[in-house]
Amino acid sequence: MSEVVLEAIVLGSETRGEYDRLVHAYTRELGRVEARVVSGRKIRSRLFPHLMPGSRIFLRLAHKHQYTVTDALTEELVLFEAESPYFHIRFPRILALVRALTPPYFPDPRFWHALLSVMQTKNTDISFMLRLLGYDMSHARCGLCEEKNLFAFSLSDHAFTCSFCSSRFQESDLVFLN
Ligand SMILES: [Zn+2]
Repeated sequence: MSEVVLEAIVLGSETRGEYDRLVHAYTRELGRVEARVVSGRKIRSRLFPHLMPGSRIFLRLAHKHQYTVTDALTEELVLFEAESPYFHIRFPRILALVRALTPPYFPDPRFWHALLSVMQTKNTDISFMLRLLGYDMSHARCGLCEEKNLFAFSLSDHAFTCSFCSSRFQESDLVFLN
């Protein structure tokens, strides 16, 4: 079993099975990674405070068939340290876009640095992040009706939608553009 320690930005996590959790993070060396946090109350109480979405952390991962988190240490709690409520609403949308639109295990140092700079400057410009990820809004149209006036971006369809067509998507699937 090999272990690596990586600097990472936590994108989010979800339950996996009855007790485990799957953490999504973006790293310079591996790109977006998905790593398991095994069950066990002691492990969880030690690791979970460091795995908050929007944190910049040091992540120790063991690899055997898949990645497992063996340790985590917070370097910076960007989301929770920011004071503006506006930032608290918009920054999770940035994280959701990164999680949905970056391929797993595909390192992109330029994107890593861009993401760090977005976090440092607290830049919550959704169209800027979409452009970084390869979706330029300036000439885009609604993926369903071709309307020019865009309202949201669908995480599952990787397509823009107008306000009328957005009702055909679940709200959790949409990142609002304004
Ligand atoms: Zn439409």
